[in-house]
Amino acid sequence: MESNIKKGKIIKILGGFYYIQHGDTMIECRARGNFRKEKIKPLVGDYADFRVPKDKEHLGYIEKIYDRKNSLIRPPVSNIDQSIVVFAVKDPNPNYIILDKFLINSLKENINPVICINKIDLDEDKAKEIGEYYKNSGFKVILTSKHRDETVESLREVLRGKTSVFAGPSGTGKSSLLNTVKPGLNLKIGEISQKLKRGKHTTRHVEMIEIFSDSWVVDTAGFSSLDIKDIDKYNLKEYYYEFNDYYCKFNDCLHYKEPGCEVRKAVEDGDISELRYKNYLKIFSEIQEGDYKWNI
Ligand code: GDP
Ligand code: ZN
Repeated sequence: MESNIKKGKIIKILGGFYYIQHGDTMIECRARGNFRKEKIKPLVGDYADFRVPKDKEHLGYIEKIYDRKNSLIRPPVSNIDQSIVVFAVKDPNPNYIILDKFLINSLKENINPVICINKIDLDEDKAKEIGEYYKNSGFKVILTSKHRDETVESLREVLRGKTSVFAGPSGTGKSSLLNTVKPGLNLKIGEISQKLKRGKHTTRHVEMIEIFSDSWVVDTAGFSSLDIKDIDKYNLKEYYYEFNDYYCKFNDCLHYKEPGCEVRKAVEDGDISELRYKNYLKIFSEIQEGDYKWNI
């Protein structure tokens, strides 16, 4: 039986079948090959070699899974280029601690976050103010509204050529934004977040949607758990990129109460956003309390 090996991307896993996108075609595949012995479980997002036997037109066999750039547990996906962390100007009001935790979780998984402040039609001044808080954070910030075409265009630009996962609290407009980015997608309002909630109790499946040529979006919101327990309080500061431009008196300064702290000074001088610094301290103390309980 003759056949040749092709490479594609797994975009859906359902009922023991793997759906691999190869150019314009989608090939249903079964898993076979060495990676099974090595206990590698294929994930949506994986690049895979597959083989379609000559006598079968559309049933292939996965032969190899390529090394992953990164992977998430919930939703189970791999090779994510970026997370679009969506918050609303209001309805619901932003919780900046939660926003920072989304950013931290994303960075922790080696996924580059983009901050998307949505619903700017509800309060444009507040949108700009929020943008200011993150101006020096090192993260890309975009301001969007499903009612403003030029802002949707800026989101399209961000998504182009990449594999993205949407994240953020429910009700902030993730499904609406995606439907506006690509009319005809027909995600139900709230669908992205709904899936997340259901996920706890049922077997659900994750899918990647090709919104433009070679631009993919995971159809389930990312970072369902915002656990920061496994972040060391000594490392937390590394997730606050804007702190890294300053050199404090002590090398291991945690920018807390140490003398000669240049970060604290920068906050006083208005060079670092006070909001970001306060959030850092708040998350720092949350971790510290966790540590404390851990030690008893
Ligand atoms: P998700 O849970 O993050 O997927 O949020 P949805 O897409 O379900 O949106 C939640 C609600 O916010 C819906 O009633 C939307 O119509 C509304 N919404 C979404 N985007 C915008 C926006 O840009 N401006 C305004 N005013 N409302 C929006
Ligand atoms: Zn310091």
